Formats: sequence, structure tokens, C-alpha cells
Amino acid sequence: MATRVACIGECMMELSERPDGSLLRGYGGDTLNTALYLARLGVAVDYVTALGDDPWSEEMLAAWAAEGIGTGRVRRLPGRMPGLYIIRTDENGERSFHYWRDSAAARDLFSGPGAAETRAALAGYDLVYASGISLSLYGETGRAALAETCRAVQAKGGRVAFDTNYRPRGWPDKAKAQAAFRDAMAAADLIFASTEDLDWLYGPDGEEEVLRHRGRCEIVLKGGGSPPSVRVLAGTEDVTVPAPAVDAIVDTTAAGDSFAAAYMAARLAGRPPAEAASHGHRLAGTVIGHRGAVIPRSAMPDLPLA
Ligand code: ADP
Repeated sequence: MATRVACIGECMMELSERPDGSLLRGYGGDTLNTALYLARLGVAVDYVTALGDDPWSEEMLAAWAAEGIGTGRVRRLPGRMPGLYIIRTDENGERSFHYWRDSAAARDLFSGPGAAETRAALAGYDLVYASGISLSLYGETGRAALAETCRAVQAKGGRVAFDTNYRPRGWPDKAKAQAAFRDAMAAADLIFASTEDLDWLYGPDGEEEVLRHRGRCEIVLKGGGSPPSVRVLAGTEDVTVPAPAVDAIVDTTAAGDSFAAAYMAARLAGRPPAEAASHGHRLAGTVIGHRGAVIPRSAMPDLPLA
């Protein structure tokens, strides 16, 4: 049976403001980006989230399905809506992000009627992937439900991957985020961590927070610099894999999300960690050469994973 992956999180409606004030519609979300690239790399992946019963939720579902992402585990909450953000670009080309997401349907994935069914279904996946942004959606009770669900995944022989994406505004205070990330890292079998996120969250000793899990789980530590390197710690292996230089960086949106997708696709195909990191660099390096999170299909690099 094919390996089945679940990506958990939130996709929001995206409105980009144009110079005349009109708004261009799209959608976006970190874990959705990872699901999309996993699907493009031939991995059987479901996006697990909650949406409303509005026309935009319908459009998102159709777009995800057209990308080959499984939508059978998307909960639909009557009367609710997806979250929304507007990207404003100032006269210097700097972008700022403005959110309406407090009542987004995705925040109730682990609460209300239907949550038990979602949790039972999640327990059957081979690999469950969530990010720090996913964690910020659910509150204490929802996070506890997610943690329990991850233990159920592992009890059935599945694995749990956690990506440390940290966005301060998603959290009521830093201490809550620090505790939630500590718990998530302690529970994960595979951690994607960026030194930048760890430093923001924990200060100069950030790396230690993840490195204390070395040996117990696989760690992909993404460093800074241009081009950056990743350090992969898996079992007794500890290798650093530099990213090849990218000539024209256009937009780094979804660099980490696409890196994680190619890394996981390669590991699921049985490739060793260092090779998986090279695949991650190859896809992320292509993604940052294009505008937006999702590159045209025709631009996808040919990663030899089969
Ligand atoms: P994020 O901040 O989205 O997590 P990262 O900065 O960790 O993204 O970068 C993820 C990957 O994107 C890197 O491992 C690398 O493959 C690619 N990448 C990012 N910035 C560069 C760069 N300046 N040059 C080459 N590759 C890059």
C-alpha cells in the first residue's frame, strides 16, 4: 500500500493589493504549500484542515484537488469562513501582511462535532506533518488533542514531522509558543528547524532546544547565510549540506515549505538523509527563483525519486 501523508494546518484567502487599490485573490498557507509540492512529487498526501461552506472554501477545495492533493479529510463547518489576509506593498516594494483569522474555520479542526472522526482518521496515516503555525491555531485544548493524535499515529507505526515555522503574531505570548514548540519537538520523529526561528523563539541558545533531541529523532537544521546550509542529524550521521547558489532570487516565499516537501518525498522513497537534503535544496532553489509560493508545474525540477 502506498505511503500516506497528512499535512495539517490552515490555508487562508490571500488578497494582494495593487497600486490602484484593487485586490487580486489567491490563497496560501505554509502546510498547504508543503502538501502541494509533496503531491507534485508523486506522494499520496491529504490536506487536513477545516473550511466553511462558502464559495471560496469550495474554490480552494477544487484548486487543491486539481493539484492532486487529497481533500477527503477537510472538515466543512457550516456558517464558517476561511481566514483572510491582505498583502500591501509600499512604494519601496516592501510587503506587509494584515490578517483576519481569529474566527477562521481551520482553528476548530480539533474541536466540536466531527473532531473525533478527524483524529481517528489521522491516526491511520504513515506520516503526519504539522508546523509551528499549525500549532498556533488550536489553543491549549486543541494542541493537547493534536499531541494525543500524534501518539496514536506513532502507536500504529506511523511517524510525525514538525517544522518550526514561527510567526509571533499567532501566539498570545512567547512563553506559550516556547512551551508548545518544546512539546512538539519532543514528540516528533522528524524535525525541520530553522536557526532563525529558534533564535527568535529561544534566544541565542535556540539550537540547543532542538539538538537535545539528536539521536532520538531525525533533525534537519536549516542555517542562515546565502546560500544557506542545512545540517542533518540522523542516527549517528551528522552532515552539513550546503545549498547551491541561486543566481536570481525573486521571492523566498515557500522556500522552507518546498524544502520540507522534497526532503520528505526523498526519505519516503528510501533516499538517505544527505541526499534528501540535496533534493530539498534543488526544489527550494527553484521555488525562490519564481514569484509566489507556487511555481508553474512546467518549472518543477526533475527530482529522481522513483
Ligand atoms: P524558510 O525561511 O522559508 O524556512 P529557509 O531560509 O530555511 O526558508 O530556506 C529553505 C531552503 O531554501 C534552503 O535550505 C535552501 O535550499 C533554499 N534557499 C533559501 N535561501 C537561499 C539562498 N539565498 N540561496 C540558495 N538557496 C536558498
